[in-house]
Amino acid sequence: MFAVTGATGALGRLTIAALLDLVPAAQIVAVVRDEEKARDLSEKGVIVRSADYNNPASLEAAFVGVSRLLLISGSEIGKRVAQHTAVVNAAKQAGVSFIAYTSILHADVSTIGLAEEHRQSEAAILNSGLNYALLRNAWYNENFTGALQPSIAHGGILGSSGEGRISSASRADLATAAAIVLAGGAQHYGKVYELVGDESFNMAEFAAEVSAQAGTLVPYIDLPEADYAKALEGAGLPDFVAAMIAQSSAASRDGALYGSEKHLSGLIGRPTTPISATIRAALG
Ligand code: NAP
Repeated sequence: MFAVTGATGALGRLTIAALLDLVPAAQIVAVVRDEEKARDLSEKGVIVRSADYNNPASLEAAFVGVSRLLLISGSEIGKRVAQHTAVVNAAKQAGVSFIAYTSILHADVSTIGLAEEHRQSEAAILNSGLNYALLRNAWYNENFTGALQPSIAHGGILGSSGEGRISSASRADLATAAAIVLAGGAQHYGKVYELVGDESFNMAEFAAEVSAQAGTLVPYIDLPEADYAKALEGAGLPDFVAAMIAQSSAASRDGALYGSEKHLSGLIGRPTTPISATIRAALG
């Protein structure tokens, strides 16, 4: 059986949808915190089991009979090394033979603050002795389009990335790649996939594309990291989230969100979704 954790999250839902095209529903285990949120999945014939990354016994029970597991990294920043290690240990106990993990682009050398938890999580997987694949996901296209309407309304897109190039990828493409690796065979064992979009952009180019599609000038306004963090706090984000986003943006100045690998299009067998398409979808 094939199991996906975080199955009711944004990436998890897309991964289950892609997996349903590859394997029968009755062989898919959606591991979720809240079974109510997964009612639609059980209606499709997917097996739904509840488990929490903070509860090792629940994880081990959820992995019974599972041979291939996709660990979608959790969202509780600061707790994730312990949580992911618990998942890896439970997988081992349950007899899982292969684990794929959604990591961060170039995790081994990334200057993004969030990368540290991914480095330690990758190490836990490598030390486990399980067969593994590391899915080092690029920044989502959708990270840049989530707040487009307010940016247009306020007349500018803020950031700290200067002219740094960004090769983001759509969640759906990353989910398709994850499903393909999960459903695949031994050819993925030991692989480290750097999953980036085929095309890159800088934030001025992004703003120009938004302007063209929206029919109004929306400039890119580059700010020092601290000022960008303040602006994000002003928009209502908790201070640690604002700091994390601003740090990531500033790191992208020097290429932390850029990769030229073609692993993603190679896995999905087609060109990746360009940022222009994600902008179009966001603008409706
Ligand atoms: P998401 O929608 O926030 O999904 C996170 C998933 O993790 C949810 O299904 C959540 O369960 C589950 N989860 C969190 N804590 C858990 C716990 N203690 N036990 C069990 N499950 C837990 O995020 P996403 O967009 O799908 O992205 C997937 C992951 O990629 C994120 O969690 C984060 O690690 C990372 N990420 C990457 C990017 C990027 O740009 N590449 C951006 C944001 C995040 P519920 O459904 O019950 O909430």
